[in-house]
Amino acid sequence: MTNEARGESMSASVSEQVNVLMVDDQAAKLLSYETILADLDVNLIKATSPREALDCLLRNEIAIVLMDVSMPEMDGFELAQMIRDHPRYQQTAIIFVSAVRLTDLDRLKGYEVGAVDYIPVPVIPEILRAKVTVLAELFRKTHQLERLNAELEERVEARTAELEAALQARDDFLSVAAHELKTPLTGLRANAQILARRIQKSEQETPAWLNDGLRTLDQQADRLNRLIVQLLDLSRLDHGPALVDRAPTDLAALSRKIVTAFQARAPRHTLTLTTDADLVAEVDPVGVEQVLSNLLDNAIKYSPEGGEIEIEARHTETDPADAVWLSVRDHGIGIAPEKRETIFERYYQAHREDNRSGLGLGLYISRQIVERHGGAITVEFPADGGARFVVALPRAAPLAPQTHPRRRVTAPPVG
Ligand code: ADP
Repeated sequence: MTNEARGESMSASVSEQVNVLMVDDQAAKLLSYETILADLDVNLIKATSPREALDCLLRNEIAIVLMDVSMPEMDGFELAQMIRDHPRYQQTAIIFVSAVRLTDLDRLKGYEVGAVDYIPVPVIPEILRAKVTVLAELFRKTHQLERLNAELEERVEARTAELEAALQARDDFLSVAAHELKTPLTGLRANAQILARRIQKSEQETPAWLNDGLRTLDQQADRLNRLIVQLLDLSRLDHGPALVDRAPTDLAALSRKIVTAFQARAPRHTLTLTTDADLVAEVDPVGVEQVLSNLLDNAIKYSPEGGEIEIEARHTETDPADAVWLSVRDHGIGIAPEKRETIFERYYQAHREDNRSGLGLGLYISRQIVERHGGAITVEFPADGGARFVVALPRAAPLAPQTHPRRRVTAPPVG
């Protein structure tokens, strides 16, 4: 099975063609190698000089080079060095044939990459066949592996691109849907408020069912509004510059306003606010309101009716001028230890089976807002149950937030 050197590239069939290049200046020797290797499933190519060998290497993918160590034009080691120096032939195996026993086997060790072997003369056919068979198998296996690897990489890439496109489409859709839902909801809420005000002003006594109905309407509209706001926040955080619009803000007053509103909407829970005096910080009041609302919303959702919720707005004890912190503690269902790591991730819900769950966005958005302030949000799970979320915010805007890493604030110890 002899072929002259062919310029075509090898096909990637299952039983891959393995080219063996035999180099010797004596045609008789080439003929004897050819006879010895004739039965093997390899393609034999002959070259009678190193020059011809190099030419052949350029045009073919050669798996194994079988060469005489001593040739008149260039010795086998020099040729081997040239082969090795070329990155394309790093994996080409080399078998030296030498009439002298290679005492300086150290020379073989000089070739660090790829397989190198040696056969003494007289060549024992079985040994030559065994060596070529092993190296040919190695070549096939290596190629198979490379192909599989490349295929796998392609598949992973394609799948990743698909997934990214799908995620992008989902987020785009959510953003459009949120914008579309916002307008009718605003109309609905305004009308409900007008209705409530008119009823309050009217001379007649309002029946309890009407008051209850109006409150439910207000609660549900508010809840719907918060979900839509979360979706809008999400797309703003993703796409917009999401500026932190800082203004000197009294966090005690802001907390009071928010807690009062939540207490009115959740009359069956008891909300208790504790604040320090002098809690003015340079923060984005809308962002902070969003964060505290998300935390209160969760505390109410994930704790039973009649549950107590403690809210604190404090200085950091160690350095009051440096940072402030807000905390929301509930005595509700808590979070299973194995899920605690994940709750700040986008769309993650630790109580998915629970119909109280929302979109899994509140904590993700809260963390984004807090981190954009250079602050930190953490959660603790007190021994007597429930959860305590703590938000730490620097009092003042970090210097040049665009170019310098933001100063980080760590949460205070459990209080
Ligand atoms: P969701 O809108 O689903 O409440 P969040 O991002 O606000 O999403 O919270 C993520 C998940 O963390 C929730 O689905 C819930 O399982 C869990 N979680 C958040 N706050 C509390 C809490 N106070 N008590 C128990 N679990 C909570």
